[in-house]
Amino acid sequence: MGTLLSRIGILFALACACLAAPASAAQLDPDCIFATSQNLSVESVRADPRWVCDEVKALGAPRFNWLRFEDTSGADFRYYAMEARWFDSITVYRIASDGRIASNTLVPDEVRLKNLNDMMVPLPQVGDPQAPVFVRIDNYAKFRDAPNIRLLESAEKPAGFVDDLVFAALLMGLVLAPCILAAMLAFALRQTFVAWYAMMCAGMALTIAMTSGLAASWFSGNLAVFLVFERLGYVLIMFASCQFARDFIERDALSPAMRRALRWSGIFILVAGGLNAGLIQSPALFGFAQLIVLTALIAAFAQAVRRGSRWVRYQLVGWSFAMVLVTDMALKGVGLGGFLQTDFTIVYYAMVWEIIVVAVGVTDRAVMLRSDRDRARQLAAEMENLAERDPLTGLLNRRGIANQYDNLMRRGFTTFALIDLDHFKAINDRFGHHIGDEALIATASALAPDEDTLAVRLGGEEFMLVLRGADATLRAERRRRAITTRIADMVPEMDRPVTASMGVVEASVEDAAGLPFEVLYLRADTLLYRAKNEGRNRYLHEALDFAEPPGVDTRAYAA
Ligand code: GH3
Ligand code: MG
Ligand code: MG
Repeated sequence: MGTLLSRIGILFALACACLAAPASAAQLDPDCIFATSQNLSVESVRADPRWVCDEVKALGAPRFNWLRFEDTSGADFRYYAMEARWFDSITVYRIASDGRIASNTLVPDEVRLKNLNDMMVPLPQVGDPQAPVFVRIDNYAKFRDAPNIRLLESAEKPAGFVDDLVFAALLMGLVLAPCILAAMLAFALRQTFVAWYAMMCAGMALTIAMTSGLAASWFSGNLAVFLVFERLGYVLIMFASCQFARDFIERDALSPAMRRALRWSGIFILVAGGLNAGLIQSPALFGFAQLIVLTALIAAFAQAVRRGSRWVRYQLVGWSFAMVLVTDMALKGVGLGGFLQTDFTIVYYAMVWEIIVVAVGVTDRAVMLRSDRDRARQLAAEMENLAERDPLTGLLNRRGIANQYDNLMRRGFTTFALIDLDHFKAINDRFGHHIGDEALIATASALAPDEDTLAVRLGGEEFMLVLRGADATLRAERRRRAITTRIADMVPEMDRPVTASMGVVEASVEDAAGLPFEVLYLRADTLLYRAKNEGRNRYLHEALDFAEPPGVDTRAYAA
């Protein structure tokens, strides 16, 4: 984790080095603000004593917001500018020293954002650049955040935050690349957290496009549509962040209630943001939704940290920066003021930081997931293997041989020897089950499987050898005989020789193809039964020949 974070640090430093501070054009902030619900004339507003001149960044709630720019000394301002937001109309007045009033009005349909995110209204010319400027904004007050209101000397010069479109495009590429990769990876890994990460990146790309002026340079449509998309990007980030946290953090590091809280606060901001971007514009509702999301995230992070989550650390490092900014925005939204005086550039820094850190987290988790999956697969293979093994002797069991039968046939294992210990019940009765087991283990060791010989314990004291090669029957017989000596060696308590009987069927490779296991087993069992009847401790052999009808040409050999 330490080395990863130092790498992130280097990447971030590089990213910051790319972020050159934009040169700001000559501009003038408003001197005073006056909010009213009455529709007043510029003359009466001018004389009104209720102007507020200390805090003019945020607009008030009543329907009409008036702004006053007085100290125009030295500059020849030509435009009134503010960030694109919803409004009903903006009227800019200029009052000449002789009392003449000139005005220009902008309505939403006339807004052309061009290369900027700013709405601009040309200042009316009264032949006096020092004439004070009054601005009446009808219904802008739905948005009380800092709208970057100012006068500009020229419409050419982008003002405010990141205005270099090349830089914005670069930034967008930086965010879109992981977005596309993650979207593809989400399909490959079938992990929802990767998909949420892709959605977070997509939301950021949209936010960057909408707020940097990039989208405004392609977009010539209606202000309302522009504003919907601008809010949508931001809402998408918040929504996907909640779902990401929920799926990315280890399951046991978050309580079910916490996971539900994350899901629903995400959905809440999606709805609140959707409404806010559309017709019902309520910054208070949206601010409230932001605070809910923040609370849910902070609570979830705290719980995950307490429960020792590994993945939450990436989110703490990646999101802390952005969360401070969101807290500030949310407080401004609900009308509590906020605590930061920032321009929008800092939001880009926060997003890039988040994208990079979380990308490392996602990669780390994906790698871990793959090794977990490999381990699980290996375990499953072992379990399967276990299910095909007899626990006492370690030989293949009946299921094991049945599963491998077709494969073995193809590989030339066409000789089947069924071996049964003689009078084993009596041995068990005399020496006890435990000693009986020892004898079975010794038998397994005598059967000595090798690359041409498979040994199976079919059940009880019944074994099977599956062999290939020219002298298959001979090798089976050698093993049958070895059982007696091996038990004598390995089970000293046994005071009598333990023998075994055997029935061997040998098929040619051509004949064996398509022959079911049961048929061969039955044949071998018949031979074994005869061997028992003929006095035990012997074997009978049959070479299957399908040129003749089965069962007619049974050649048996006794030993
Ligand atoms: P035959 O020569 O006719 O095969 O006589 P047998 O006594 O060997 O045959 P039978 O089928 O009558 O008895 C099989 C015995 O094998 C019965 C049971 O006590 C014993 N046996 C089966 N499974 C196990 C096992 O897992 N451990 C032990 N110790 N004995 C087992
Ligand atoms: Mg027996
Ligand atoms: Mg038996």
